[in-house]
Amino acid sequence: MLSVHNLNKTYYFGKNEEQVLKDVSINFPSGKATALLGPSGSGKSTLLNIIGGLDNAYEGEVCLFGQCLNRKNMKFYDSYRLNQIGFVFQSFYLLEQQTVYENIRLGLMPLKLSAQETQARIEAVLQQVDLSDFAQVRANLLSGGQKQRVAIARALVKNPTIIIADEPTGALDGETAAQILSLLLSFKEDGKIVIIVTHDEDIAKQCDYIARIQDGQILQSPPDDQLTKQLTWKKPQFSWGRSGVLIGRNLWQRKTRNAVMAGFASIGIVSLILTTSLGVGAQLYLENQVDREFNPKEVVITTTDRSEKIDANFINELQADERVERVETAYPIILTQVMYEEVLAGGSPVISVPELTANQAERMNIISGELPASDQLELALQEDYALKLVEDPETLLGKTVTLMASGYREDAQPVQIEAVVTGIFGEPKDENGRSFDSGPRSANGVNYVTSLALNQEIIDQSSGVDNEELEYRVYTAEIDPAKEIAALARDEGYRAVAVADVIGTINQLFDGIRIVLTSIGFISVFVAGMMIGIVMYISVIERTTEIGLMRALGYRRFDIGRIFLGESVAIGFITGFAGCLVAYLLSFGLNVGFYDLIGFNIVQIPWTSFAGALLIAMTMGLLGGIIPAIIAARKDPVIALRTE
Ligand code: ADP
Ligand code: MG
Repeated sequence: MLSVHNLNKTYYFGKNEEQVLKDVSINFPSGKATALLGPSGSGKSTLLNIIGGLDNAYEGEVCLFGQCLNRKNMKFYDSYRLNQIGFVFQSFYLLEQQTVYENIRLGLMPLKLSAQETQARIEAVLQQVDLSDFAQVRANLLSGGQKQRVAIARALVKNPTIIIADEPTGALDGETAAQILSLLLSFKEDGKIVIIVTHDEDIAKQCDYIARIQDGQILQSPPDDQLTKQLTWKKPQFSWGRSGVLIGRNLWQRKTRNAVMAGFASIGIVSLILTTSLGVGAQLYLENQVDREFNPKEVVITTTDRSEKIDANFINELQADERVERVETAYPIILTQVMYEEVLAGGSPVISVPELTANQAERMNIISGELPASDQLELALQEDYALKLVEDPETLLGKTVTLMASGYREDAQPVQIEAVVTGIFGEPKDENGRSFDSGPRSANGVNYVTSLALNQEIIDQSSGVDNEELEYRVYTAEIDPAKEIAALARDEGYRAVAVADVIGTINQLFDGIRIVLTSIGFISVFVAGMMIGIVMYISVIERTTEIGLMRALGYRRFDIGRIFLGESVAIGFITGFAGCLVAYLLSFGLNVGFYDLIGFNIVQIPWTSFAGALLIAMTMGLLGGIIPAIIAARKDPVIALRTE
């Protein structure tokens, strides 16, 4: 038996108060159906909510087979609703977009049951309410009577001790109402307590007892019974996996809205990925350009005054320095012309070529012949220049050409040297084998290479110019040490030029740009997070009765909050995923578009950017969803389920 003793319940609105239940004492015998009759507003629903453990703000006692509800323990109420109470409402509260099966499963989910047992129970209860053929039908396609049968099945599937039906037939026609009533009455065996609120005297007559309430006072109560019953209590067990099932279902149900929102929200993510990686791409591009034209691991050390020399001890020191790979003497001589005996029809026997530099073999792209030896008077010619001398550059291989350098001999004539062509090289290629169509690549003499011996010969022939010990080139293994070496040389009073210094400046510039762009990205992500929060909040409002229903079914606050938070994080994840996809496609397009222009992938998205974007998007969902989830969790089920 369920017994209520001296129950008082008062509602407060501001300063006004209304005592809805006045010293209510009533019995609901087990194995019997009791009809609760009373005019509208007399306190029937209020009483049922208290009996059903939805409301614990009252004075008095509610005892089930002698065991009274412990008002201090919230968890106990969740467990009580889950294990002992099956609610049936006038307005069904089905999840309209979900199937009959899924609606019934909702009542069972918080219980720890195996998949087989879950399915067996749902099938059994479907049979009881005669809806076996409707398991996979969506609830919104059912008639009122069928809907109420689903609601009854959802209440009964967990095998509760008490069935509380608050005007279960109020929305149904006479015949359907009779069917529902007989269905409800069929559950009173086995010591179960059936309580049916109704206005209908005919329905009341079919119950075993009639209880009457008016103005919050009991006019008639069923008799006491001394029956006892062994109650089963299972711990609520709403796992992460099961909340995942509901989260997925809920997201799918509002798929259009969620997709649109994720689409909008992903703009922030896309901009975040692109701005950061565009920065990276452009920076790499510039570094690459610098790297191609100038060696960033090279430091050129000269004296500030050309009449002075660089101290050999300092050079020795550098050579001993472990940061330094090698030190080369440089020959700052300009080669101006190459002459070849055979004259092409209409061509010129003389071509001008840029600066003569030390051997830069590692940058050469020899297409025929080979690199000149460093100890021979040999050279390799760039193809374009060779074509000015002969029709077929290969015919130059092994031939002797005359070089005229701009150094001066004692007789005031230009330096002239004969050298053998050993190789022809093409344009420098990038790692993908593509030529560079832009950039000042000829500036440092990559068009022309010659051997050290050739350089030395020019120096030897040049009079009055003692180039040695005037300029050294120091090569380091890494870029940063190059800066350090340059600083060291400057400290010694020399002039030192290191491209690494320039790269540092470029990096600083890009860091600045990136900070600005990233902040913009973060702001848009923040806005997107707010958007998710607002949409989740709207969702909470829309689903208030769903929340109330779930609480009535025995879900805990935590379960409700977790579902909403989970949805929000999942939307964040989808947003992030969409953002990554869009960013990837955009980067692909940008790279294809820009490649011809600059010969370089302008956007380079590292995988960490994608991972970071996903993480940020999920955090965004988490932060956006926290407040709505808390609001959802704290919704008062009594108010949520109130229908006037
Ligand atoms: P019944 O179900 O018998 O029609 P209720 O139990 O729903 O009656 O309501 C009893 C009285 O309590 C009514 O006057 C109603 O206005 C009031 N009431 C019910 N719920 C609330 C609430 N959440 N806040 C304030 N008053 C309420
Ligand atoms: Mg009511």
